[in-house]
Amino acid sequence: MIGRSSQLPIIARAGGHGRRTAVVEAQGTFTYNDLLDASSRVAAALLAGRLDLHEERVAFLVTPGFPWVAVQWGIWRAGGVAVPLPLNSTGPELQYFIDDTGASALVLDAQAAPVLAPIAAARGIRALFYEQLPTFQAAELADVNIININSERRAMILYTSGTTSRPKGVVTTHANIAAQIMSLVEAWEWSADDSIVLGLPLHHVHGIINVASCALWSGATCQMLPRFDANAVWDCIAGGSVTLFMAVPTVYVKLIAAWDKASPERRACLSQACARLRLMVSGSAALPVSTLKRWKEISGHTLLERYGMTEIGMALSNPLRGERVPGSVGTPLPSVEVQLAGEDGEAVAPGTLGEIEVRGPSVFLEYWGQPEATRAAFHDGWFRTGDTAVMENENGVYRIFGRTNIDILKTGGHKVSALEIEDALREHPAVADCAVVGVPDPEWGERVAAAVVLKEGLKEALNDGDVLDLPSLRTWAKELLAAHKVPSRLLVLDALPRNAMGKVMKPSVAALFQSKGGGDSAA
Ligand code: AMP
Repeated sequence: MIGRSSQLPIIARAGGHGRRTAVVEAQGTFTYNDLLDASSRVAAALLAGRLDLHEERVAFLVTPGFPWVAVQWGIWRAGGVAVPLPLNSTGPELQYFIDDTGASALVLDAQAAPVLAPIAAARGIRALFYEQLPTFQAAELADVNIININSERRAMILYTSGTTSRPKGVVTTHANIAAQIMSLVEAWEWSADDSIVLGLPLHHVHGIINVASCALWSGATCQMLPRFDANAVWDCIAGGSVTLFMAVPTVYVKLIAAWDKASPERRACLSQACARLRLMVSGSAALPVSTLKRWKEISGHTLLERYGMTEIGMALSNPLRGERVPGSVGTPLPSVEVQLAGEDGEAVAPGTLGEIEVRGPSVFLEYWGQPEATRAAFHDGWFRTGDTAVMENENGVYRIFGRTNIDILKTGGHKVSALEIEDALREHPAVADCAVVGVPDPEWGERVAAAVVLKEGLKEALNDGDVLDLPSLRTWAKELLAAHKVPSRLLVLDALPRNAMGKVMKPSVAALFQSKGGGDSAA
């Protein structure tokens, strides 16, 4: 039964989707009615006789699957603020999130219990075990449905990647979340006939909003994997029912590697299965053009690249129909306003570098408990993303140059984009992956420093230096890049340091160059 909580549109819509399949996962297949039932039980347990949690924060650590959604919806239906915790976090990191949000309750599953139960006990916080949810009378469950949840209330706190400082809690309201979902549902034409496989972590906007929430808003099916596994994703695609796929660039790299390792028969079968999908999306980090090209060869799909951020949901997207320009992130999504601001804060002309600023209903409310940081993040009502881009004159599409303070290097008076140099270096026959950073230099301001990972097989066969040394890389790169963009520092690594979302942690790369004078250096 849906009562006045129908003011939460995702819950109200679920009533309409009723017996359709909402979630497919290892434990079985679950309908929208199952989700409504399980989430009302979570809500009743959290409320424990109260009428409304009044935005109390409830942190939860539950393996991706049906229970994860039931808990998120249950917290919302009880009037709480959902704080999804990252699965792979250490004890101290979890303590930080729990203390920072001042969570009044934790919901956990059996797998999370060993690490979370002691944290809850030490703080005297109520811990609710999903597997041991109490049983309720129909009347108690009905109480869940009389809570009036205004769309301006806080709904969720997600911690940002924190590649530079301690993670900040990004607070979104129910209205923000609905706006983020509706924008994507419209742009990418989600429908109840869609089915998506989710292998992304569920503490980040990509998995939570773009995949799970858009699917469940639309009456579609979400096939949820407990964690990313390239062969498991391929198996889902080969299963034939998947219509959509969305992932970060590193996931596509792993899928390509798994495809390369498969037998010729399986390769043919996987590639054929891709033809049944209607859309494949990449985002959350720059998509290397080399990955886009290789994926096209394997799957036949030109990946749709989009740009977004925890604070704003998605802002820019290549078109569902129409030309997808490699290396670009397209144009503003429905209901999202985008402008580029120069160093003086004024909007810049097309063709000029500027900081991306975003305005609209999908932009977050605040950084949790940090009014100063919140104020500093806005400029005349526009959210300052900290990303630099250029809008091309001729077609209005945006190209991302990277994080203003990290990826825009200033060398010998030139501003250069680390992302552009990385894309060029990935064309080198020995380079599997790379990250470019600026390292301080008295003469140049910053030097262009490249950390590279060599292609498998090359490393074992030869000494690194035989495969790739700085002089040979420079000679090669000068064919593709202007002289001031050619790296003058080189470090060969076994792997790039990445966070849980697969994003390269540039400050850690820069630190490697700083420590022990890292790598080869050119005069
Ligand atoms: P997060 O809040 O963890 O999603 O990180 C958002 C950041 O990821 C943005 O501020 C960008 O720096 C980066 N990002 C997201 N999408 C793209 C993209 N398509 N190309 C380049 N960078 C991106």
